[in-house]
Amino acid sequence: MTTTQSPDAALDAHLDKTHDARLESYREFLRIPSISALPEHAPDVRRAAEWLAHALRTAGLENVAVEETSFHPVVYADWLHAEGAPTALVYGHYDVQPVDPLDLWTSPPFEPVVVDGRMLARGAADDKGQVHAHAMAAAALMATRGGFPINVRYVFEGAEESGSEGLDAWLTANRDRLTSDVAIISDTGFFEGNIPAITVGLRGLMYAQIDVVGSPVDLHSGSYGGAVQNPANALAQIIAALKGPDGRIRIPGFYDAVVALTEEEHAAIAELPFDEDEYRARRHVGELVGEVGYSTLERRSTRPTLDVNGVWGGFQGHGTKTIIPAHAHAKVSCRLVTAQEPHDIFVKFRDFVLEIAPPGVKVTVQDLGGGRPSHTPVDHPMTRAAARALEATFGRAPVFIREGGSIPVAASFESILGLPVVLLGFTQPNENAHAPDEWMSLDNYEGAIRAIVATFDEIATLGSSHRE
Ligand SMILES: [Zn+2]
Repeated sequence: MTTTQSPDAALDAHLDKTHDARLESYREFLRIPSISALPEHAPDVRRAAEWLAHALRTAGLENVAVEETSFHPVVYADWLHAEGAPTALVYGHYDVQPVDPLDLWTSPPFEPVVVDGRMLARGAADDKGQVHAHAMAAAALMATRGGFPINVRYVFEGAEESGSEGLDAWLTANRDRLTSDVAIISDTGFFEGNIPAITVGLRGLMYAQIDVVGSPVDLHSGSYGGAVQNPANALAQIIAALKGPDGRIRIPGFYDAVVALTEEEHAAIAELPFDEDEYRARRHVGELVGEVGYSTLERRSTRPTLDVNGVWGGFQGHGTKTIIPAHAHAKVSCRLVTAQEPHDIFVKFRDFVLEIAPPGVKVTVQDLGGGRPSHTPVDHPMTRAAARALEATFGRAPVFIREGGSIPVAASFESILGLPVVLLGFTQPNENAHAPDEWMSLDNYEGAIRAIVATFDEIATLGSSHRE
């Protein structure tokens, strides 16, 4: 995909002139292993925050600060001199996912390289690449115009890959000073085939752990087999009962809050250019399966799910060992859709698991957190403004999609700050986020910088007071 040249000659000249320095700066940011989930990387997460703050300060932004939360810091910056113009709150995250399995990376994850027009590194796409594009767009505006067409606040988080721990409390504590008209979240991507897209829906998440305990120690399966409950068998029985062969989740009340798609929404999803064979083949899956009565696109973005993320217990070495394991465990998560509440779903999940738990074992269910789903109307003026900017930059009108993933902060901006959310993301759909060999298309990255500037220009034409 090539981006069309903007009518802004000064911007073009600036971006040409700073091209090499920009890529080097991008690589420098990616070299910091800011893995939020691993305690040994906490100093690196802070180093990434300081690096980003420095970049924003250098760009010419004001009130730049690395601010403490109960976990990793938030990087804040603003520029508030466009009197009478709307204010956009821009969000991204500078932390990244862990990198294992390391042996599946073509090159080391924190030694970024450009291969075939792609930046290859952990965080290249999710989400340091997009955060960096925002910093570079700010620098370009300050360098070429001496300011922004609108007011902007930047909130860059360091714990998104760890459930955004500490962010809600920070947003709540800073609610008054974060007053804005819209939240622009850049942590999503384009549609299949690299078609510009605006995400108008995100799924939420419920995460739980099931612990099944029998005898305090492993038992001889000859002496006790047949006479006592086996925790691993019991766990398998529980897991098997959670979902039917029709793909429907059997937890009572699970679907109560799900808002059904309208006919228009069904039709819009059916119209999206989606190659199901390619989608299937890309992950070497023999057959696609899911909830009866829904298309693949609907299943993966508009319907709730239940998946076992991990299961363990008992003997796992080579050869044989004849035991009845003392305990067995499973991590289970549900992707949620509007208007399912994570805690409500957890309670229903827990109650059902306890109800179906076979006798002879002790079963407990832990709540490991979650996030609410979010949804922004396609016809919101801010969504429309971003759509015009994407079309002007990439030469093609964006499609409006719902993503299967979760960005709990989107719901937080809606509920804590009362802001409409525009999910303006620029990665390609197969960019290996969270996986080995994560990459970002440099065309998308460069286009992102222009599209961000264009979005600010489009929002400026709306005038102020677009709060709803
Ligand atoms: Zn992300």
